[in-house]
Amino acid sequence: MPGTELFGAEERKEVNDVMESGCLFRFNHEHIRNNHWKALEFEAEVKKITGARYAHAVSSGSTAIATALAAAGIGAGDEVIVPPFTYIASVEAVLWVGALPVFAEIDETLCLSAEGILNALTPKTKAICLVHMCGGMANMDAIMKVVNEHNLILVEDAGQAFGSSYKGTAVGLFGKTGSYSFDFFKIATAGEGGVLVTNDEEVYHLADSYSDHGHDHIGNNRGMENHPIVGFNYRISELHAAIGVAQTRRVPGIIEKNRTNKSILVSELSKVPGIQFAHIADPKGDSATFLNLLLPDTEAAKRTVVELNKAGVGGFNYWHTNMYHFINQWEHLKNLNSASKLPIHLVGAPQDYNHLQLPISQQVIGRLISFGIRCTWTIEEVTGLASKISESVTKALATEKG
Ligand SMILES: *Cc1c(COP(=O)(O)O)cnc(C)c1O
Repeated sequence: MPGTELFGAEERKEVNDVMESGCLFRFNHEHIRNNHWKALEFEAEVKKITGARYAHAVSSGSTAIATALAAAGIGAGDEVIVPPFTYIASVEAVLWVGALPVFAEIDETLCLSAEGILNALTPKTKAICLVHMCGGMANMDAIMKVVNEHNLILVEDAGQAFGSSYKGTAVGLFGKTGSYSFDFFKIATAGEGGVLVTNDEEVYHLADSYSDHGHDHIGNNRGMENHPIVGFNYRISELHAAIGVAQTRRVPGIIEKNRTNKSILVSELSKVPGIQFAHIADPKGDSATFLNLLLPDTEAAKRTVVELNKAGVGGFNYWHTNMYHFINQWEHLKNLNSASKLPIHLVGAPQDYNHLQLPISQQVIGRLISFGIRCTWTIEEVTGLASKISESVTKALATEKG
């Protein structure tokens, strides 16, 4: 959780600006806000890092991806290709806008592959919700080829890839629109928050209105604003945005430290027989929030997890059995259990979610163990971790032979 590792005076200063004026609302109220516009500043910081023409901050990464889908024109009955490995919010967002998730295969980038997308296409496919996982990025050249050849709408959930780029372009900016999360676990946090980015002016205005009851935000009398569309309240508060401002400013420094720490781990662990790494489509664009190990097979990975636990190594995820990130544990989703009826209940699911065949994704996630990189690690902590991982893997692989 690199962002929260560095929580301090800068965050307090930004929050105090808001506390002193008492203006907790992001729009209007010029007479009381003492010229503090934290949501606007947060958006400006995100634009600075991503190079996006437009950024719009909302209440969470989940509401950001839902807003992104809606603003890209994806709604009731539309088929949207999604990955089986993601934080479940991406799939929920597709359902929330009334659309229908179609699961496709990922590859060793840990993201949807171009081939997986091609195999999942149907005449009804409207869009792809591409998720950039574990600080890395999808293979964008191959994916953009499919997007363009098949005239699909691309929306990117870069919830955990803020600060990552592919060949010089920030992830989140390849499609019509994209989103980042600033929850408590991400490279920068707002406490709770999310930011949508786009280079498309019309999409930006739709997102801006959609996330605030359709307000057009023209003029300085909120009560008299027009409402070109109906929307909902996904607004971020000034308090959260203030924390987001301070945290986002830290991101370039965090990435630099993450990369140094990750490169030490990679160079040590490259010497260990049996360890491979997830494929990074553009190593220069890696935000290095995770070190992603691929063991020879699922059984070897499971034995490695046992050895890591025995050695007291924390800070890793074995997503294959994790409740939130991999489809195997999503019983509620497979059975479409919800509090009330969703459009998918009326239209019908486009796939039999209980009998999906995703052998490549099963194999990749079965082999995957991810370590969260901390930017505050000392060199001793990094080399100590490398040797513990190395010993655990070596023991786990020896068990196989013996
Ligand atoms: C964290 C995350 C989200 C959800 O963000 P919240 O801010 O927690 O709502 C969505 N997608 C991905 C890929 C994430 O990692």
